[in-house]
Amino acid sequence: MKKPKITVIGSINMDLTTTTERIPAQGETLHGLSFATYPGGKGFNQAVAAARAGAEVSMVGAIGDDSFGQELSQMLMEEKINPVGVRSIKGLATGTATILLTEGDNRIIVVPGANGKVSAEQVEAQKETIAESDMVLLQLEIPLKAVEKAAEIAYEAGVPIILNPAPAQPLSNQLLEKITYLTPNETEISEIVSDENIHRLQDKLIITKGEQGVVFYQDGHPVNIPAYPVEALDTTGAGDTFCGLLSARLAQGDSLRNACNYANAGAALSVMKPGAQGGMPADSDVIQFMR
Ligand code: ADP
Repeated sequence: MKKPKITVIGSINMDLTTTTERIPAQGETLHGLSFATYPGGKGFNQAVAAARAGAEVSMVGAIGDDSFGQELSQMLMEEKINPVGVRSIKGLATGTATILLTEGDNRIIVVPGANGKVSAEQVEAQKETIAESDMVLLQLEIPLKAVEKAAEIAYEAGVPIILNPAPAQPLSNQLLEKITYLTPNETEISEIVSDENIHRLQDKLIITKGEQGVVFYQDGHPVNIPAYPVEALDTTGAGDTFCGLLSARLAQGDSLRNACNYANAGAALSVMKPGAQGGMPADSDVIQFMR
């Protein structure tokens, strides 16, 4: 079968994770337990999920001219993601998430860095790549202007668009009407869609509900596709895995029901392993797990 082409326009981060017995008090210096760096950013995460599911993925985004940027561009290549639209921006830091993890609590600071400089012009420069895709995959960790430009190009070219509206923010009707599928989780849904709007958007909605799976609407009726019962170890990036796999399957022409089931299976596999990208499965793993 021909590989579906997916273009992801989104964030690329390095996650800096420190585990500690407790959060330090003001002015205090603590000895932590461990430190590790993990590739992240919703854009990069979803690109990895789609690529491992068998899609031919191109990425549009930005990294800084620092060592994290170099490391991440190496990782993009290792995942066989085409970095055609990834810009390295001089004098800027790569996006980071500084994460303090204790048992039962976490504190996170995200610094967008280069992600904050992804521009509409940069997206416009990838017009051909976007227009030749079978699916475009968007999130909200880069400037809205860039997201809107990507949606405009894809919409005009007749390319279906999945928007994972995270982190949640109010979105214009002009943007929403171009989107084919919206994939909020249960907390995001109320922040992006008002109650009176929900009917108009119903056909686009695929709401992820953690261990309850997902809900979409068919002729106004909710359809629940249950999650796979597993022992969850780390749910970081579950939504990203879901979106990446969903896009790969829908781009292949799968039905919404089957694509959601496949993405649920892959996301279940991912929560059994630590890290966002660490647990993202290959297509063959998902197929085997679903048997
Ligand atoms: P987010 O990570 O964006 O908050 P969710 O928590 O809704 O998103 O999870 C996304 C998807 O990941 C779910 O729809 C489901 O398929 C899968 N998932 C998440 N948590 C679990 C779990 N504990 N067990 C099985 N599947 C899960």
